[in-house]
Amino acid sequence: MNEYVSAVLDSVISKNPAEPEFHQAVREVVESLDPVFKSHPEYVEARILDRIVEPERVIMFRIPWVDDHGTVQVNRGFRIEMNSAIGPYKGGVRFHPSVNLSILKFLAFEQVFKNSLTTMPLGGGKGGSDFEPKGKSDGEVMRFCQSFMSELYRHIGANTDVPAGDIGVGGREIGYLFGQYKRLANEFTGVLTGKGTNWGGSLVRPEATGYGAVYFAKEMMNTRDKSLDGQICLVSGSGNVAQYAVDKLIQFGARVVTMSDSSGYIYDEAGIDREKLDYVMDLKNARRGRISEYAENYSSAEYTAVDDSAGFNAIWKHKADCAFPCATQNEINATDARNLLDGGVFVVSEGANMPTTGEGVQLFLDAEILYGPGKAANAGGVAVSGLEMAQNSMRYSWTHEEVDKRLQVIMSQVHEACIAAAERFGTPGNYVNGANIAGFLKIADSMLDQGIV
Ligand code: NDP
Repeated sequence: MNEYVSAVLDSVISKNPAEPEFHQAVREVVESLDPVFKSHPEYVEARILDRIVEPERVIMFRIPWVDDHGTVQVNRGFRIEMNSAIGPYKGGVRFHPSVNLSILKFLAFEQVFKNSLTTMPLGGGKGGSDFEPKGKSDGEVMRFCQSFMSELYRHIGANTDVPAGDIGVGGREIGYLFGQYKRLANEFTGVLTGKGTNWGGSLVRPEATGYGAVYFAKEMMNTRDKSLDGQICLVSGSGNVAQYAVDKLIQFGARVVTMSDSSGYIYDEAGIDREKLDYVMDLKNARRGRISEYAENYSSAEYTAVDDSAGFNAIWKHKADCAFPCATQNEINATDARNLLDGGVFVVSEGANMPTTGEGVQLFLDAEILYGPGKAANAGGVAVSGLEMAQNSMRYSWTHEEVDKRLQVIMSQVHEACIAAAERFGTPGNYVNGANIAGFLKIADSMLDQGIV
């Protein structure tokens, strides 16, 4: 690693102690950028990297609310406004008990490069709370969302910062958040994406991240004259991204054999077909149940509970051709990566953000499999959010076919950009370097144009 890059990384680690996920995300990007700084001294002179790792603004606030028993609860809220060089801050909101500054800074940092790759004018941000929506009534979720927005509304806006969903934030939460924003700001604008289609949402936004991760896998497989038809696929998660990844994989003729939640996973050797996927969608989106119920309903499936003491995740031990991690960060460690490779997996397309640890990523790269990192493979979600913003600005809605077609074009352009940048900087076929470099160049050049701000 060159001296400048390693000094910036050291400074990130010493200035932000106790933020391991943020360090991990920065390390992965700066390692890829090494050759860029060698041939672009102007970036070093303008200290682009020192600036890009420092959020433009971090907002942290108290969220008091009252539960169904009349007890006062207090959560912590955040919004990281990371970089606005190419457009308004854009990125999801996560509600999960694990949420902290480190996780949101890693997500916001990744988002900057991902949004740049989408070809759309979107800056990067991320937000959330340590609130746990699981097990809460609709009334509790609504009161929490209203309290969250009562502070957030003064920092966001259709031309300033446009949040969306992420883990624990789906259509229901976006509805409550939008309602409260509209009441406080007294304006009906596209301040959030992932809205209901009756009130400004885009068709295909719910499907976009999962569909996009599958389109990205298809693009990678085209480079080796392979297709998804008949391939055995492991999918983790059973939320928004996982559901629509499975949906598209079924459409492409693949056989999906796993899905999971934070308690465990199901393995269904017969494959998850359309009817079984409809069952999962009802289970997760309407009844808000656990994936273990799938195995009670379908005798072809076995359920395995999470075993934290094992040191690996059993879902990745099954023989398969492709893997789509769609749950959460660091769900594939080095042992899992080895298990996937030993089990025959030659395609990994990340629906989740940073689901593979640094060591796991290196194993995939060394094995020269088709490995699509999240910031490229899951860019379809924010891309369609960008399309939702465009439709809101026009006060117009495109058809399902129109949006899906645009999504496919964007995923193909993201893929092309990764391939071209990886090749130009001497590592052909390395999508990690390709995504990081292509995303970075556009941001860096925009920052140079705009002076020291
Ligand atoms: P959802 O909340 O809809 O689903 C998350 C899924 O992952 C659930 O099955 C959940 O299980 C599981 N999960 C969450 N946390 C953990 C954990 N700590 N350990 C094991 N399993 C866990 O979220 P999304 O589908 O929206 O998000 C999934 C991933 O995709 C995240 O990494 C997110 O950042 C990324 N992403 C999402 C986008 C979007 O448009 N929604 C866009 C780009 C990336 P349980 O129900 O038990 O919690």
